[in-house]
Amino acid sequence: MNIPFSPPFIDQSVVDQVLDTLNNKWITTGPKVKALEQEIKSITGTKEVVCVNSWTSGAILMLKWFGVKAGDEVIIPAYTYSATALAVLHCGAMPVMVDILDDFNIDPDKVKAAITTKTKAIIAVDIAGWPCDYTALKELITDPKVQRKFRYESEKQSLLKRILLISDAAHSIGSLFNDKPAAQECDVTIFSFHAVKNITTAEGGAICLNLPYPFDSEAEYSYLKMYTLNGQNKDALSKSRGGGWRYDILFQGLKINMPDICAAIGLAQIRKYNHELLPQRKKIALQYCDGFQHEDWFIAPPLVSIQRESCYHLFPMRVKGLTEEQRDQVIDDLASLGIASNVHFIPMPMLTLFKNLGYKIEDYPMAYQNYANEISLPIYPQLTETEVEFIINSVISCVNIQLNNRIKTIEETFIVHKQMAVAS
Ligand SMILES: *Cc1c(COP(=O)(O)O)cnc(C)c1O
Repeated sequence: MNIPFSPPFIDQSVVDQVLDTLNNKWITTGPKVKALEQEIKSITGTKEVVCVNSWTSGAILMLKWFGVKAGDEVIIPAYTYSATALAVLHCGAMPVMVDILDDFNIDPDKVKAAITTKTKAIIAVDIAGWPCDYTALKELITDPKVQRKFRYESEKQSLLKRILLISDAAHSIGSLFNDKPAAQECDVTIFSFHAVKNITTAEGGAICLNLPYPFDSEAEYSYLKMYTLNGQNKDALSKSRGGGWRYDILFQGLKINMPDICAAIGLAQIRKYNHELLPQRKKIALQYCDGFQHEDWFIAPPLVSIQRESCYHLFPMRVKGLTEEQRDQVIDDLASLGIASNVHFIPMPMLTLFKNLGYKIEDYPMAYQNYANEISLPIYPQLTETEVEFIINSVISCVNIQLNNRIKTIEETFIVHKQMAVAS
């Protein structure tokens, strides 16, 4: 078997959309980006959507838009991909890391304790597609005592008059919260369309706006589109039309627009997402849960509750009693059986940059605990039932080899698998 971890979904409809873009001879930001923004708007029910060239640049943009700068603080979880913290650092502000709950997501009580007069924003991360506790987080930012602490120093800050709640929804397009798209919960929700995500544009991202009164979402959309294009008041498409050559630069923007050639990939995928790609992911997650249900060491990832439903971006299972070293061995053994698995995530305080900045993993015991025995299994629409069955059997035997502390040789794993093959 050769089972990759997360290959992109590329079928004929994706190829056709990309070819259509090439044949139309308009490859940078234009009609495909517009169409993708419309599709995202309609599946999320958010007010406006701006496509950009990555989640990271989208987060930098929104922090800058809000006026986040040196001396400010942004509260984030210690357990996420580093881009969450890097976006804050790029604005000159300080990422204030807090610990997580058992469900991998930011702990609202820890957020509460971390709020100071310098706090400008909170970035909550929906790990694996599981929405954060947005009820608690929204209560917190609108709590009068917390609001009184907020110091507004920019035009947008004085319109909002409170901490900005951003969702790092890099994993969570299609997730639900109170039976509605989770993207409606925060002021700003940012998706990633990097190659490994549920929907991809090779590289890309989308910013969904849900700004409350008195923000004018349409005006913010136009402003943000200019912001993604060097602050230029006219995009390439309108400039290219006869007589449309004159333009102005209105302010210092960024250059982070999404090209049409990339949007085409995501456009074909998103049109299949809710009725095809997402249900296939869910089916695989359920097959895993079913396959591991009799293993007393199996800790299932959070997938559904009365209030929330994941979009099954990752399957971050955990193994009770497994040490970090044993977990790493399981991953190596799975690899030699042809199965690529992964770990989401190494807590940021364990990475060099953040260690050098003074963050310490000892301050985030839950993050370490969830990381140490976590294994992310392959989950994507192209996986077959037989492959998932093979992964389940392989994980069970590789984990048992570790937990029974038997001779840890890969030969033994192969023997177990030969036996399984004969038996089935
Ligand atoms: C992938 C990812 C990002 C970064 O997305 P890019 O589009 O690559 O910038 C940010 N946060 C999380 C949690 C991610 O997994």
